[in-house]
Amino acid sequence: MKISREGKGRNRYLDAANEILETMLSIRRDLHSHPELGMQETRTARIIADRLKALDLEVRTGVGGTGVVGLLRGSGKGKIPAKTVALRADIDALPMQDQKSVEYASKNPGIAHSCGHDAHTAIQLGAAEILSRSCDVMAGNVKFIFQPSEDTLPGGAVPMIEAGVLENPKVDAISSLHLGSQFEEGTVVAKAENVSTSSVSFDLDIHGKGGHIGEPHRVINPVLLAATLITSSQTLLPKRTAPGDPIIFDFCAVHGGTVGNIIPDQVNLKGGIRVASPELLEQMMREFERMIQGIVENGGASYSLRLQEGYPTIYNDPPLLDLWQAAAGKVVGTDKVILHERIITGGDDAAFFHQRVPGVYWFLGVHNERGGYTEPLHSPHFDFNEEVLAIGAAVQAQVATDYLKRQ
Ligand SMILES: [Zn+2]
Ligand SMILES: [Zn+2]
Repeated sequence: MKISREGKGRNRYLDAANEILETMLSIRRDLHSHPELGMQETRTARIIADRLKALDLEVRTGVGGTGVVGLLRGSGKGKIPAKTVALRADIDALPMQDQKSVEYASKNPGIAHSCGHDAHTAIQLGAAEILSRSCDVMAGNVKFIFQPSEDTLPGGAVPMIEAGVLENPKVDAISSLHLGSQFEEGTVVAKAENVSTSSVSFDLDIHGKGGHIGEPHRVINPVLLAATLITSSQTLLPKRTAPGDPIIFDFCAVHGGTVGNIIPDQVNLKGGIRVASPELLEQMMREFERMIQGIVENGGASYSLRLQEGYPTIYNDPPLLDLWQAAAGKVVGTDKVILHERIITGGDDAAFFHQRVPGVYWFLGVHNERGGYTEPLHSPHFDFNEEVLAIGAAVQAQVATDYLKRQ
């Protein structure tokens, strides 16, 4: 599928993006070969900053760690204070071995760009290049936020916000994108309002009383209590949400005991919960803890529970989603703009930006059965057809332009 030929002449930003496709592709491949983990993206940050400076943007580095921010000032219109729209890309890679056999495969052992953040970075630099050519006609400013450490909790968005990334000039709206391996190549996809689940990871110790297997009356067996808790919670907790509300609730690790004739003192369980809203997550946590108390304490044991909150639900602002839909339609054609119904059961700390500023978070489809691009994100074989980089850059540029024009 030759996306670049298909859309020619339809949209000036798509044409401009296709003209610089080679540049975006080489940046993406360079980053792909040299992936860096969260808060260690020093080489990546240097490449981004150099590129933004070459485009004559105002550049700040070391924002909230290894974050980089580029500001493109529009000339504004008359006396009305200029608005600022932000585009956001995450720049970190994952702690996993790249198993692809392409010439741009990772050169850093145990680190790979399997979540597509190399693409997000290349796309955003592409959008910066396209928009920097038209800043004299732009009615406002565009801030390019390159955020570290999305894939490692607690994430790089909050440190950037604390370092003032949404101020000076104040950001009025934000658009964030992510590659979508579940969506068809050539499409762009967004969901109204709540985009992603709220999540928490739990780490639970059940403290019983160990002893000899032959003296069950003198022990409190935490293995049996753990088993009861696992099966009861799997049956009962999903019943606490309304029909149609997704609930992911699973145990992922069980540790305890040594041999077949000693009852251990303690069993450890680890797992996670993902639901459609922060409120529902709080409710589920209360229900889960009540269940733990019931089973563990009635069994004569005690427990300690540690929680690590994941990222909150990403919220798409309805007026901004409408604007995105129209802007994206100009780039890919309205038939390729898809409004997704179901909530996405992944998370992204772009959510923290969207909590403070009206935002739209959207997906750039990369699934292509015929092209052989079928691996999901976070797979060691994940890859995609790089022609979609042009679509990503063009849609982001169009969204920024249309937002500023509307003000
Ligand atoms: Zn990601
Ligand atoms: Zn990821």
